[in-house]
Amino acid sequence: MSTVHTDIVTPAGKVYEGDVHMVCVRSKNGELGILPHHLPIVAPLEIALVRLKHEDEKQVDYVAVHGGFIQVSREKITILSEAAERKADIDVERAKKAKAEAEKQLDTLHETSEGYAEALKKLKRSELRLSTAALNDTVPEA
Ligand code: ATP
Repeated sequence: MSTVHTDIVTPAGKVYEGDVHMVCVRSKNGELGILPHHLPIVAPLEIALVRLKHEDEKQVDYVAVHGGFIQVSREKITILSEAAERKADIDVERAKKAKAEAEKQLDTLHETSEGYAEALKKLKRSELRLSTAALNDTVPEA
């Protein structure tokens, strides 16, 4: 098995760096599982969980990535996003508060109203943070 160097970068700095066996992301065109020596691509990402699997196949790192892009080159994988958090860095209380705020905003807005799309994104971000924080760190035994 081989590995590929992977960085997840935001304006706040590098959130993740590691040599991994597989990177699983949700692109705007569907799920991608990227192995070392993948063909070079650039793809836009959904607000979704990124799974970084290690060589021993049991260890997996989880990062909540809130949109952005993945760039795959021969040498490395880079994910660039406005915001991303490793599972251990997620503040659950903050995410719960943000979720409640977003739901409250959405209750008062119509789909065509100004601010609706932003409130929906805020809801998605908070839900992703909560679901990521609740994950286990190891892949279950088959
Ligand atoms: P909030 O209302 O709590 O700020 P938000 O979804 O509007 O939530 P963002 O604009 O996506 O927040 O993020 C702003 C910065 O704060 C980013 O650097 C992001 O990684 C960080 N961040 C936001 N929520 C959390 C959280 N629950 N735990 C850890 N970091 C967070």
